[in-house]
Amino acid sequence: DIPAFAQAALDALEQDGHEAWLVGGFVRDSLMGRSVSDIDMATSATWRDARAAFEGAGYATHETGVAHGTITVVIDGHAIEVTTFRIDGAYTDARHPESVDFTSSITDDLARRDFTVNALAYHPHRGLLDPYGGAEDIERRLIRAVGDPRKRLSEDALRILRGCRFSSQLGFSIEEQTFRAMLERKSAILSLSRERVAHEIDLLISGEHIRKALLDCIDVLTAAIPELVAAKGFDQKSPFHMYDVLEHTAYVMEEVPGEPLVRWAALLHDIGKPASCFEIDGVRHFRGHPEIGIIIGREVLGRLGYSHTFTRKVLELVRLHDEHIAPTRKGVRRALRELDGDTALFVALCELKRADALAKAPAYRERAETAAALLDMLGRILIDEEPFTRAGLAINGNDVIAAGVPAGPDVARALDAALDAVIDDEVPNSLPELVAFVESWQCSR
Ligand code: ATP
Ligand code: MG
Repeated sequence: DIPAFAQAALDALEQDGHEAWLVGGFVRDSLMGRSVSDIDMATSATWRDARAAFEGAGYATHETGVAHGTITVVIDGHAIEVTTFRIDGAYTDARHPESVDFTSSITDDLARRDFTVNALAYHPHRGLLDPYGGAEDIERRLIRAVGDPRKRLSEDALRILRGCRFSSQLGFSIEEQTFRAMLERKSAILSLSRERVAHEIDLLISGEHIRKALLDCIDVLTAAIPELVAAKGFDQKSPFHMYDVLEHTAYVMEEVPGEPLVRWAALLHDIGKPASCFEIDGVRHFRGHPEIGIIIGREVLGRLGYSHTFTRKVLELVRLHDEHIAPTRKGVRRALRELDGDTALFVALCELKRADALAKAPAYRERAETAAALLDMLGRILIDEEPFTRAGLAINGNDVIAAGVPAGPDVARALDAALDAVIDDEVPNSLPELVAFVESWQCSR
């Protein structure tokens, strides 16, 4: 009942006289009937002995974290993280244990793990080892710290975000004492490296149950993203909205696919609203809110260390989410040109628009059909190989120069003019007609 490559790893260790268990997410997700991401294994062997056992059985290993007893073994193309049973020493900086002590007992090893649902071990012959009631918490759909939550979350502040992350991935609630400790200790998130924070937030915002997790955990998450404070409870007082900004945001996030780019755009799409709000006759208006959202969003993503490319794409989606795009060939080709021909980004934009419409009052929801029509039109444009970038034109720079445009910046200008004309159906995309177009463009200058 476990994958053959995992069984092979257990066999290799046991043949050398070591004890080994499957631990972590694999056990949790298997009990839940969820698809399993990666496999973690715990063993009584030191990393050197584990490496010897695997190499003796003919498997490649990598020293991925030998300081804390972890190596990675690759079997049939699957990587398994194998860690020596350990007890973490004292934590002094809320980030790293000062020392790592190894132990011969799997039960001691499970005690250092963060949440009960993650403190399970399984072996095909010995069965489930569950000293902290993890199986019952899976049943009850609860994230609960192993041991004293305040102590465990103080040891490693990343666990605060991991708690929110598992809530989002699994759809579990956070047990009351654990949640209270998360709130109490949340400022320690600021002591974590931004890479670790961004990694957890990516997993969190990509979770299947992000709506619940965002609403449940908002008062914790604001330690990492204080810009979200203003969204909570911010009533839009508009006939188009039945939710406040945060509730609306949470709904939109869950409605788009679970990938960081479009989820980040959903998280930030209305973040400029509180700051851009003005009220007339009891109705709130948010003129220019995407522009303010871009400023705020750039700050958030920059602080968390996201790349320029990723940031640019997210902010492009924020900027365009509320702009009308006609679901016609012209309208979609123009939008694609504006996105530099990035069709994946256009798809993300359509997903965001669709979700945004669905999250508004019922009268607004026909816009969701427009978003579907945009995607449909994209498909037709791609099948028909219609141009929407310079590269798609039947004319190139050399042709433009041959048509009488001097080499230099005018060549790009001529190609852009040609592209505009083709996109707007004024000129067909064929070389002779485009040469004629460029000649008259040049004459009229
Ligand atoms: P995923 O599905 O994301 O792999 P996972 O539960 O397997 O989830 P990992 O980050 O792979 O999470 O870690 C494997 C196991 O190691 C966890 O289940 C948990 O028992 C333990 N663990 C990981 N990080 C921590 C931590 N910061 N504090 C305590 N235990 C941890
Ligand atoms: Mg794992």
